[in-house]
Amino acid sequence: MKNTLFGKDILSTRNITKDEASSIFRRADELREIVQTKGSTDILRGKILTALFYEPSSRTYASFISAMQRLGGGIIPLNGMTNTSVAKGETLEDTIHVFDSYGDCIVMRHPEVGTSVKAAVYAKGPVVNAGDGTGEHPTQALLDVYTIRRHFPSLQGTTVTLVGDLLNGRTVHSLIMLLALYTPSRINLVSPNELRMPEEYVAYVQKTGIRVSQTDILNDVVSTTDVLYATRVQKERFSDVKVYERLKHRYVITRDTMKLLKKDTILMHPLPRVGEISPDIDGDPRALYLREQVPNGMYVRMAVLSLILKK
Ligand code: ASP
Repeated sequence: MKNTLFGKDILSTRNITKDEASSIFRRADELREIVQTKGSTDILRGKILTALFYEPSSRTYASFISAMQRLGGGIIPLNGMTNTSVAKGETLEDTIHVFDSYGDCIVMRHPEVGTSVKAAVYAKGPVVNAGDGTGEHPTQALLDVYTIRRHFPSLQGTTVTLVGDLLNGRTVHSLIMLLALYTPSRINLVSPNELRMPEEYVAYVQKTGIRVSQTDILNDVVSTTDVLYATRVQKERFSDVKVYERLKHRYVITRDTMKLLKKDTILMHPLPRVGEISPDIDGDPRALYLREQVPNGMYVRMAVLSLILKK
């Protein structure tokens, strides 16, 4: 089968087909096996990834770096641009031209929505959006759906609940669109009124026939949920810290919440968590954020890199 991901920019989950997602998940399964038995492979020997991170990141950054290294490729690691020519006022266009000639792909994080789309126009090699402000984070959504499908191979008939800062959280923007490919029966959106999911994403999934409910009361929906996905209130997007303080712990998942969930419901979080999930439930078998999402992030990013960089 032709690899349609070869050379492709991964900017939004809107442009990922179900076949492409399936080939990423299949490749992630293979690479998981390789890493667990041999530690690494040399599929991408001779290829170089530039990690161009203009905004703080630890795990996404590190998982791309480790993914590329386990594939045998090289890296140009730039995390925080204060020591680079960007701090001297270099334009995005020039920066992209430079790293596009040194390396074979650019993985980019930036505080402004749409910057990776602009970068992709300037770059000849593929660009991966590793988070653009309040926009999207497509590889997080891929690892999330990969994780979900290891528990619910068909999402049909399931109920997925996204809770927290659905306005500013880019992971849920990418996730809701990717979920639309798998047609769960219902998606519940739980947030304070001020932090509701932007209408464009709601309309996008409703078009596929999935029922979408919006509420600000988590306890109304937990007992019928199969996948509970919690997110942090995105402090860095608030101009008024008082508003953030008022909203930040509106939803906290505790042992009491876990008692209301079904026994096979899974609890997820893109991390970092800052109080949304009480640490005393980390050992619950339904809590997947540390045990499964973190390692899956590396396998899925290995899969993405190997498919975009090699025919
Ligand atoms: N790590 C995720 C992101 O970069 C989630 C978060 O920061 O809340 O979007």
